Amino acid sequence: MSDVSDLSSESAVYKTLLESTKAIPWKIDWQTMTFAYIGPQIEPLLGWSQASWQSANDWAMRIHPEDREHVVNFCVAQSKAGVDHEADYRALTKDNGYVWIRDVVHVVRNAQGDVESLIGFMFDISERKKNEEKLLSLQKELEALSFKDGLTGIANRRQFDSSLEREWDGASRSRLPLSLLLLDVDFFKQYNDLYGHIQGDQCLTEIARTLNLAAVRPRDLVARFGGEEFVILLPETDRLGAERVAQRCQRLIGKLAIVHARSAHDQRVTVSIGAGTVIPTEGMTAIEFIQTVDQLLYRAKQTGRNRIEMMHGKE
Ligand code: GH3
Ligand code: MG
Ligand code: MG
Repeated sequence: MSDVSDLSSESAVYKTLLESTKAIPWKIDWQTMTFAYIGPQIEPLLGWSQASWQSANDWAMRIHPEDREHVVNFCVAQSKAGVDHEADYRALTKDNGYVWIRDVVHVVRNAQGDVESLIGFMFDISERKKNEEKLLSLQKELEALSFKDGLTGIANRRQFDSSLEREWDGASRSRLPLSLLLLDVDFFKQYNDLYGHIQGDQCLTEIARTLNLAAVRPRDLVARFGGEEFVILLPETDRLGAERVAQRCQRLIGKLAIVHARSAHDQRVTVSIGAGTVIPTEGMTAIEFIQTVDQLLYRAKQTGRNRIEMMHGKE
């Protein structure tokens, strides 16, 4: 048997249930676009009093400006179409902050099938968003690290391989020359033997920093090729341009004047450089190009070190 007092005590139970959950219940009357109800939990969360939620516009104006337009448009369109939906947005707080909200909306229709009201729950998802953002920034950091050489901080081999592939394709299309320098520190085994591995590491770091200064165009890439070998990729650079960068490398390393008692070149650390320029054509691969430049480097070593060996060709 249910009488009026049973009903009202039942609705009191529902009210208590609704108002004791963390999610914030609300109801909007579709005709008047006004709030029929919003849970009192809204005030501790956003600071706006329960009574201040009058029209749907109050809701819209309390959405972060960057989210407002697309969230309002989306929710209105879905509601008009009578489709249940949900939207994530930053709700503005009374003290000028914001809280990430997930609004889950159910569209209520009358017997004729017309939209009568919207009822929904707002969930505070700021903790989840914070974790998501942190994860995203960690992911970016990790990605950046995976392209960096641990010792010298310049680009690593992986970055070089990826840039070379991209620039090789670019140069094939544009028919503009691509240049490559391979650099190898002279008598470096003896440097390590003489001064120890730690100082050897410091020497490599100094050289990396200096080479980075030698290649100045935005798309130039200076990378550690491995061990005491470095590589410089120079897009849209002809033979003359490559020669200039190679000379700048030698000059700047000369200015560093790192003492190397067993070096035949003024007892200073020097590098040998192989330099090649190519307009990629069908039938030539990037690997073959690197091999050609590596042979030039080898020749620079054979013919005395502290030298630049250029590729002979028409580029
Ligand atoms: P060359 O003039 O013919 O290039 O002689 P080299 O002694 O420089 O050439 P070699 O390839 O025989 O020696 C390279 C040395 O570089 C050997 C290795 O111990 C050293 N090396 C490679 N990577 C590192 C590194 O990360 N740190 C240090 N300290 N030394 C390294
Ligand atoms: Mg070497
Ligand atoms: Mg060497």
